[in-house]
Amino acid sequence: MNKLVLIGICLLTSGLFAQGPNLEKDYEQIENKVIEWRHDIHQNPELGNREFKTAEKIANHLKSLGIEIQTGVAYTGVVGLLKGDNPGQVVALRADIDALPVTERNNLPYKSNVTSEFLGEKVGVMHACGHDTHTAILMGVAEVLSKNKDKINGTVKFIFQPAEEGPPPGEEGGALLMVKEGVMENPKVDAIFGLHINSQTPVNMIRYKSGGTMAAAQSFTIKVNGKQSHGSQPWGGVDPILISAKIIDGLQTIISRETELTNEAAVITVGKIKSGVRFNIIPESAEMIGTIRTLDYDMKDKLNKRMIEMVETIAKAYGGTATCEINDATDITYNDPALVTQMLPTLERVAGKEMVVTQKAITGAEDFSYFQREAPGFFFFLGGMTPGTTESFPHHTPDFLIDDAGMQLGVKAMTELTLDYLSAGK
Ligand SMILES: [Zn+2]
Ligand SMILES: [Zn+2]
Repeated sequence: MNKLVLIGICLLTSGLFAQGPNLEKDYEQIENKVIEWRHDIHQNPELGNREFKTAEKIANHLKSLGIEIQTGVAYTGVVGLLKGDNPGQVVALRADIDALPVTERNNLPYKSNVTSEFLGEKVGVMHACGHDTHTAILMGVAEVLSKNKDKINGTVKFIFQPAEEGPPPGEEGGALLMVKEGVMENPKVDAIFGLHINSQTPVNMIRYKSGGTMAAAQSFTIKVNGKQSHGSQPWGGVDPILISAKIIDGLQTIISRETELTNEAAVITVGKIKSGVRFNIIPESAEMIGTIRTLDYDMKDKLNKRMIEMVETIAKAYGGTATCEINDATDITYNDPALVTQMLPTLERVAGKEMVVTQKAITGAEDFSYFQREAPGFFFFLGGMTPGTTESFPHHTPDFLIDDAGMQLGVKAMTELTLDYLSAGK
């Protein structure tokens, strides 16, 4: 091909991408629907693995759009498959759909008055993490994309995921179970995008980080064994309470003395300690449980290894024995650096360059991380705080509130990330 013609075509395509697919009319038409869906879902929240009505609403909507669906994935999950008019790669978009055992305190026309049972107790149920907005946004994206199949060079997989906050004890669930059930296969996903609304980021702003974005969460159980004796004669026994104190102290030095905190943050927290029955008895054993948060795989391995070594050797030094068992809860939410670089121009075009800002890592965890182990993924944060507000309440609290106006940017961002990614891979 003539070199000039080629340059011309390149300029034309890059010009088109710079402008985006021009879906303004579709976005205008969808905004009120997204708000209505959100209010309905907010008013009817359901706990993890029990999202029956929410799933039904999603399934009915996707069906009405002619999207092929699969229901009952990981209990209540819904997966939709939309094939574009042109062949190409597969993009997955994920929204979590579960609510929390929190009693809402907001005065809203669509306030939740729902109650349920959680761990044997009657609790209020509320979308106190904003997953209602994620669900409504993705329902909107599905509608916009289904009307624009001619612009889709490939396939879009919509993943509506249950139990992000964790399944009820004794049950499997969430992203991990969806992956186990094959959600990232058939067709195999090439890239996945997800977002989280944020009550402390202003509406119309996007925050993101390349690499380790949210922490891997692990739980640990430390069992200390000593020798029981009279409280007045400690020399006759081995004190597991004293050993526990030394272990807690030792564990904190792994963070403060051994972890390169200028690279990434790391946390060890002992959340519960249990030992003893009476003021004048040195008990036989003690148990501690806690959580570990890491943002880097090497740091995670090193920290785990050192915890086990330290627990065992400290106990030994004081004449007792101890074990440390560590279990994975959630992996690192790791944004693929190449994918972030590739897709950043899309976010900047949609939100405006000055409204897309970098952020520090978060020591909270997200099970979106399990999808990112299967395919490169990009998870970002969307503003949900009313402009001009000075006070906003954190996630998981009774006063947590998200402004409806924040969702529109979510619809645009997810739609255009999909179209741009698939166009690039054509
Ligand atoms: Zn949450
Ligand atoms: Zn959440």
